[in-house]
Amino acid sequence: MGKPKVCFVLGGPGAGKGTACEFLVKKHGLAHLSAGDLLREERKRAGSQFGELIEECIVQGTIVPVEITCQLLENAMNKIMVDSKGEQDKFLIDGFPRNVDNLQGWTKQMDGKTDDRIVLYLNCPLEVCESRIMERSKTSGRSDDNIEALRKRFKTYEESTKGIIEHYRDLGKVREVDSSLTKEEVGETVSRIVEQDLTDVQQPSVSGDH
Ligand code: UDP
Ligand code: MG
Repeated sequence: MGKPKVCFVLGGPGAGKGTACEFLVKKHGLAHLSAGDLLREERKRAGSQFGELIEECIVQGTIVPVEITCQLLENAMNKIMVDSKGEQDKFLIDGFPRNVDNLQGWTKQMDGKTDDRIVLYLNCPLEVCESRIMERSKTSGRSDDNIEALRKRFKTYEESTKGIIEHYRDLGKVREVDSSLTKEEVGETVSRIVEQDLTDVQQPSVSGDH
């Protein structure tokens, strides 16, 4: 089995990470792991010892200790790799890593296990993010889709996550997309990026064909 190829998907709350990932799953059959969704699942799992801590972080817009998030991601990734007998080896990791603790934890735990290719950075003005989330709050049922929690999430994003994006930018791994556009437009753009950066380049044939 080759190493799983990873595309991290980052951007503010409401930037459209989940929507873009859904588009890529449909069009390219990538596996989508949302760190937030995995945490919400763990929170409601009967017998979880982390449920309360996770809920506290989610409502406060702070970040769950990386040991928890990283383990959930690794388990989910391994399950998909095993179930697909290694066929499914391209992963979108949505909403992670969000701070230095996340980045260090991932680097430590996943060292050598994954091929971290790119960071898809969905850049969207916070006013647009805010109006999207307030619209979503009518139906999402999420305990953090309200204006107080949202302000805290924006603060965490500005203070912690942006630095992680800059870290990856220095490594030449960031692919930045304007995600204030329609979902179809954003979808086409991210699709082109993924085709280019997540597909293995064919070795050019040495002997010329005639
Ligand atoms: N969260 C976290 N670590 C992660 C991802 C999410 O602690 O790696 C928590 C954090 O409290 C965050 C919340 O889960 O505010 C919701 O994350 P999600 O990615 O679902 O929100 P989005 O950014 O998509 O609106
Ligand atoms: Mg999301």
